[in-house]
Amino acid sequence: MDVVAENVVIIGSGPAGWASAIYTARANLQPLVFEGAVTEENRQAGTLPLGQLALTTEVENYPGFPAGVLKPFLESAIDPQRFAMMAPPSEEKHAVTGPELMELMRQQAVNFGTRIITDDIVSVDFQRTPFQLTSREGNTTEAHAVIIATGARANYLGLPSEDRFKNRGVSACAVCDGALPRFRNRPLVVIGGGDSAVEEATYLAKFASIVYLVHRRDELRASKIMQQRVFNNPKIEVVWNHVVDEVLGNDEDGVTGVRLRSTVDDSTRELEASGMFLAIGHTPNTAFLQGQLELQDNGYIKLATPFRTNTSVEGVFAAGDVADDYYRQAITAAGSGCMAALDAERYLAAREG
Ligand code: NAP
Repeated sequence: MDVVAENVVIIGSGPAGWASAIYTARANLQPLVFEGAVTEENRQAGTLPLGQLALTTEVENYPGFPAGVLKPFLESAIDPQRFAMMAPPSEEKHAVTGPELMELMRQQAVNFGTRIITDDIVSVDFQRTPFQLTSREGNTTEAHAVIIATGARANYLGLPSEDRFKNRGVSACAVCDGALPRFRNRPLVVIGGGDSAVEEATYLAKFASIVYLVHRRDELRASKIMQQRVFNNPKIEVVWNHVVDEVLGNDEDGVTGVRLRSTVDDSTRELEASGMFLAIGHTPNTAFLQGQLELQDNGYIKLATPFRTNTSVEGVFAAGDVADDYYRQAITAAGSGCMAALDAERYLAAREG
């Protein structure tokens, strides 16, 4: 049986993926989205469907979503089955949460006829046309145009002791793991100095006895408004000019503390803690693209033309964090998803032309 090639396949299910889907669906291109697989490996790597926003708390800076009583809106907008699977929305006035925002985007794409497969694309062949995409389950899909929107994932320090205690006190997602009993009313450590680190520290301070925010410099990178929340929170202590030398612990208790090293004089000190949360930046999810299109030295996709989403392969477009090591915002990802959709639409129209 002949395989019918898709017009456009979108890989990834963050804001870039859903914005591309909404636009290509409304252009009658019947997009197919691979939203990612629900596996333990993806959970650990932070690459589950709905992307990084699904791992965050409230999103206060996405235009169009001022804080409000969102529950009635969410309940009326989202498919009842999906709504039942979500964390119950607060009845109070609140800023939209990352998972809520992503469910809304997904629903909007579905409303216009987007088809969704809950699987990863693990390899691609861009040498042949139509392009060939292979999923984790081993299925092959052909596509005339592809939009890559696979985003980025959280980094780890790479210490053997950190690896040993992953899921036993070491985490890169405070929102996923912070409420676990092992972290309640205990001292916790957050590593990093950016928006993620201050956001995680602020979140964890609700559960922890104290949160040590360990940063390698004497100045935070985070936005001023979020820094201020940390400085105003009596349960957060910033430990300046230190990095982690080793995660301390044992088989029975998991993490019991960290050994820190001063970046100023190399001296070491130990902090008691039952958890260590990493917030030290990201790596783009581009491993499945190796050799198929041009990447930057840091692994992000290289865009071929400024202010366009074209990659080094004609007909393959990139949107969101997978091609952006600079802005990395939900709104910029969504905007570039729209751009990729328009670029793909024009490419397909010219091809048929
Ligand atoms: P980031 O801004 O790149 O910050 C990473 C932090 O980790 C930096 O402070 C960096 O230190 C530190 N770091 C990196 N490698 C390290 C290592 N090996 N050991 C110790 N420290 C290390 O990453 P991010 O905080 O995840 O933020 C990424 C983007 O998402 C940003 O654009 C941010 O604005 C955005 N974001 C926004 C929100 C929000 O607005 N609500 C929330 C989260 C993230 P240095 O400062 O010394 O480089």
